[in-house]
Amino acid sequence: MSTSADIQNKLKQEILDTLKYCINCRFCLPTCPRFKITSGEVSQGASGISRSLFYAVKWDESDKQILNELRDIVFSCTTCKSCENACKSLSTGTKLLDAIEKGRELLIEMQVGPMPEQKKVLESLYNHGNPYMVTARKRKAIVKELGLPEFTQDSEVLLYLGCSSAVEEDVQKTAIAMGQILKRAGVNFGILEDETCCGDPALKIGDSALFEDLSRKNVELFKKHNVKQIITLSPHCFDTFSKKYPQDLMEGIKVQHYTQYLAELIAQKKITFSGAVGKKIIYHDACYLSKYNKVIDGPRGVLKSIPGAELVEFGEKGLDSLCCGGGGGRMWADFESETGRLANIRVGEAVEKGAQVLVTACPWCFTNMKDGAKVMNAEDKLEVLGLAEVCARAL
Ligand code: SF4
Ligand code: SF4
Repeated sequence: MSTSADIQNKLKQEILDTLKYCINCRFCLPTCPRFKITSGEVSQGASGISRSLFYAVKWDESDKQILNELRDIVFSCTTCKSCENACKSLSTGTKLLDAIEKGRELLIEMQVGPMPEQKKVLESLYNHGNPYMVTARKRKAIVKELGLPEFTQDSEVLLYLGCSSAVEEDVQKTAIAMGQILKRAGVNFGILEDETCCGDPALKIGDSALFEDLSRKNVELFKKHNVKQIITLSPHCFDTFSKKYPQDLMEGIKVQHYTQYLAELIAQKKITFSGAVGKKIIYHDACYLSKYNKVIDGPRGVLKSIPGAELVEFGEKGLDSLCCGGGGGRMWADFESETGRLANIRVGEAVEKGAQVLVTACPWCFTNMKDGAKVMNAEDKLEVLGLAEVCARAL
């Protein structure tokens, strides 16, 4: 049985082995969204995070204050992947995110991390299987109210709700809209009321044991119900199921994000949009769709198939899209070093471009953009909608 010291030493070695490839060229720095909303100190952006972590580990840093400063830097990363993509195409291909995730794990093992608010999230995941402090019983009751059919042995497709689409009122609208579309297309689908969080928040905050526990519970549930196809509402669940779950256990289960499934339904003419949405729409790429999985043209194609929809684009889009700030466990943490909010920048640009609707296909981007529209007093000019909601309105 490994001791905490063994675990720490192993993590330290893995961090050094990963970050030794970083040559501090800083080509990743301008792509880092964190850097954009801080006061311009290098330590607050990608290459600075990499260097701070590397030297803290190399020098076996034990000073409490320095470790707390390191925690604030390491946990502030949104895990947007822009730095890794930049490093891969311009420099040494350093796997910065592997090191950041291991750095978070190390800081938890050293009892320095995570951020105070994130501790409650991990507790909730341990106790209730979701990050929102909702008991499993209450979650079940809330989900029943959505009016979506239960997955049975005859169901072809599992609509995996994920935690925010299950319990957060505004986000639930995407789940309900997707249900309407699937019914219209004649898809035999269902939901599992007792699904557990996919584990993304646990993994990204740095609790790998908790992630393994959550993933094991979900895989058992999928096997028990003989699930063969999953559609996720969140890009985070999609990425986690497709890439982070043990692939041997997921063999025989097809996983898609709902925008991919919608594109297929449209191509097969199982759904057509007859109602026009005569509005200027701007689509915000979620990092876990675009940068992680190259799902870029598909969602745009879905929107373009709606009569009357006029698509405008952000300056930073697709692989270069600006993160909303919600990934990597940041939905539950604030950072004093930040002087702005990424979602507000996005909302500001959407308004400037004359968009009337800001569309996203990620529940966390949606929540951040909605808050952004409120903070920026833009609610009367700009409606924030989930992509499924736009489609359901046009059925
Ligand atoms: S681009 Fe790569 S090598 Fe250069 S500083 Fe960033 S992580 Fe290091
Ligand atoms: S993943 Fe994104 S936020 Fe994190 S360091 Fe890289 S560019 Fe910055």
